Amino acid sequence: MSFNSDDYDNMFEEMNKLFPNAPFSYDAEHFNCLDDVLIEEPYALIYHHRTCYCVGDKDPTPISIVINSYNGKNITYRNFYAEIEKKWDKDYEVCNHHFLEFISIKNNIIELEFGS
Ligand SMILES: [Zn+2]
Repeated sequence: MSFNSDDYDNMFEEMNKLFPNAPFSYDAEHFNCLDDVLIEEPYALIYHHRTCYCVGDKDPTPISIVINSYNGKNITYRNFYAEIEKKWDKDYEVCNHHFLEFISIKNNIIELEFGS
């Protein structure tokens, strides 16, 4: 699916309304799949290595956050973002690259990649 820039701006705005306290820029395209299942587990671990190509491993203390399912079965994108909004600390940032670009999932560990 591709979007024009107006579509993208609208999705971005809607995401900001839903998650006004987002600690980083969520992927606006996920506005279209908020109720899709991200992970089929009652909980998951977000692992963030806290390195970036721009700063290398200057402060590589990784963090991990447990996020919980709201229905006891699986974690949807909406659930995922709501948990991040609650549990993600601003101090996790190592640089100004805070646009979520990629989510990778292995077992029930979620890794996030950021860009600008
Ligand atoms: Zn960076």
